[in-house]
Amino acid sequence: MTTIELESLIKRWGQPGYRARQIIDWRNKGVSDPDAMRNIPADLKHRLKTDLVCQPLNLVRRQASSDGTRKYVFALKRHRFAGKMVEAVFIPEEKRGTVCISSQVGCVLDCPFCHTGTQAFEANLSGSEMIAQILAIKADLRADPMADELHNQVTHVVYMGMGEPLANEEGLHESLAALMSEDGLHLSRRRITVSSSGLVPQIKRLGEAYPVNLAISLHTASDALRDVLVPINRKYPLSQLRRCLNAYSLGSQRHITLEYVLLHGVNDREEDMRELVRFVNAERERVNLIQFNPYPESPYTGSSKEHMSIFAQGLISKGVRATVRRSRGQDIMAACGQLKAEAQQAG
Ligand code: SAH
Ligand code: SF4
Repeated sequence: MTTIELESLIKRWGQPGYRARQIIDWRNKGVSDPDAMRNIPADLKHRLKTDLVCQPLNLVRRQASSDGTRKYVFALKRHRFAGKMVEAVFIPEEKRGTVCISSQVGCVLDCPFCHTGTQAFEANLSGSEMIAQILAIKADLRADPMADELHNQVTHVVYMGMGEPLANEEGLHESLAALMSEDGLHLSRRRITVSSSGLVPQIKRLGEAYPVNLAISLHTASDALRDVLVPINRKYPLSQLRRCLNAYSLGSQRHITLEYVLLHGVNDREEDMRELVRFVNAERERVNLIQFNPYPESPYTGSSKEHMSIFAQGLISKGVRATVRRSRGQDIMAACGQLKAEAQQAG
């Protein structure tokens, strides 16, 4: 809810409108339980609890890595979808804190190297359920005396958790509006990244409505191989993706990120690098090489760290900006979907 929406509701309850701002301030800090809102009178707290859903998710499980990365499993409460689970992650770095959120329960797109892709698609999250992941993490960080000031701030949000955000356009747009609004978390578009496997019309609409940072799961610049690794390629092949990326509006100093998971013997060979160099629009794009996160029964193995740097150096020597994504939270169930699978087994 925006302050204005809450204000008109509260006035209908016979309470002064300024209470809306106080409640929204608590919410944006991650305090969702009305009982913890110290400056709110008891009768209004009661009304909030009985008439509104203050926290649409239940925290089911939480795991912290020795490097500060925290992983969370949330269950939906909504009718029909109650108990369905998604994951979110908090990744602290030197000067930023990134929350990675889920947009769907499962995914229809079936990329064969992705754990979420092996799970059946079950639900689109609402905008509120996406925002609730961030707010719940904020609350958890506030409550943790071990998380120091510098390392417990949420400064960036990435849509790189479970699901394909652009296949849930309504929920995505709703959540982006709330993230960016002054009323909500008031995050600049430069601090928000949407990752997509390449839904061309939806990318175009995203750029027009919410020109946030864009990351594309490319993984190969060969159509034949991409048809297998990222099956949506059969619908939107590389030529269409290329035109769409060239048209995506970039603000100053920003670039589109091309994500590339290096799979041993599959997309990490010399010829794969040559094709990638031909595909990349080096002025506007950079390649982010990602270490494969294995999960039980995954059909692939990742390239070695040494090979990843050779691949990166090869790209750089051809004028392509390339970075290697540091893998975080290696000591916890970090591959997307794994902690949820464990939570489900445990019941
Ligand atoms: N559906 C969106 C966003 C979620 S996946 C997308 O595909 O972009 C976020 C990123 O994690 C994508 O780049 C995806 O390809 C990558 N990914 C999926 N499974 C992975 C694994 N096992 N190891 C490493 N990266 C993986
Ligand atoms: Fe879905 Fe992204 Fe996983 Fe592909 S990589 S199955 S699009 S979540």
